[in-house]
Amino acid sequence: MEHLKVNGVYKNFGEFTALEDVSFSVNKGEFVCLLGPSGCGKTTLLRIIAGLDQPNKGSVMMNEKDITHLPPAKRNFGIVFQSYALFPNLTAFQNIAYGLKTRKMRKRSIRDKVYETLRQVNLEHIADRYPAQLSGGQQQRVALARALALSPDFLLLDEPLSALDAKVRVELRNEMKRLQKQLGITTIMVTHDQEEALSMADKMVVMNNAELVQAGSPQEVYEYPLTPFVSDFIGTVNFLEDAYSLRAIRPEHVELKKDLWENSIPVSIENMEFRGGFYRMMLKNKVNKQARYLFADVSAEEYKKEQYELGQTIYMKFQES
Ligand code: ADP
Ligand code: MG
Repeated sequence: MEHLKVNGVYKNFGEFTALEDVSFSVNKGEFVCLLGPSGCGKTTLLRIIAGLDQPNKGSVMMNEKDITHLPPAKRNFGIVFQSYALFPNLTAFQNIAYGLKTRKMRKRSIRDKVYETLRQVNLEHIADRYPAQLSGGQQQRVALARALALSPDFLLLDEPLSALDAKVRVELRNEMKRLQKQLGITTIMVTHDQEEALSMADKMVVMNNAELVQAGSPQEVYEYPLTPFVSDFIGTVNFLEDAYSLRAIRPEHVELKKDLWENSIPVSIENMEFRGGFYRMMLKNKVNKQARYLFADVSAEEYKKEQYELGQTIYMKFQES
């Protein structure tokens, strides 16, 4: 079922066009990633969906009702931004309880709800800590819990992971995706990180220069890019399925060795291409439970040292972060 629809949205800031005729739809329970380079209009679009800003032309529909001019407070959307935006003088518990208090809930129900959402983001043990006593990843989980506590119809996330270091980012990526599916909450997440979008999205909406250039599943967009921009921007990734989701792993996050080691996959070398400073290896998967071809980048030094040969069988493993 169509949950949200953006119809021919335009947004100008003076002479500058930030959005030009953007249309797409989001189904109930779907995780949509708005992907594009910095400055292409992602935040502007998210703000219009949230009701924090109004389009010059076009509309936003929710459950077939026009909400273009409905104030944010009447939308019941949960919003999380890149900067955690927690109240520094309130504990994690108080931060999450804040929105519930303004809804005039009873004290006991507030407590139950706060602990329920803290459990959902695995943070029960830090309820009494202040933001300054939490890591970036924990702060962002509190921000997520605060949004979820209000039982929103819709979750809007603006680059929620981009300020975190790589390892935490990958952890939180998987956790958020699992939670989103478990709660079945319709979500739009803005990101400029292709790997993040490919691994988290049910649907990707790719933008460039104020325009929507392609919308579709990660596999569709990856395998059938509509424009050279999309194919360049997405780049090369390895798609792997695990128990929970599809994961996209960049060639530079692959380790190669000549001998079998823990959890490694045997592959044969199909092609080697010099890319300036590194070699892009195209590898044929000899186990083939996963993708048939996989890609790995090796530095020029390593390439020279190992003296790889076409057709040779070697072993590969995906780095944890
Ligand atoms: P993204 O989130 O994709 O990085 P934004 O939506 O923030 O991009 O911005 C798109 C373009 O619109 C940028 O060039 C930005 O400078 C411009 N812009 C955004 N908000 C305003 C504003 N309030 N006034 C003027 N220009 C703006
Ligand atoms: Mg932005």
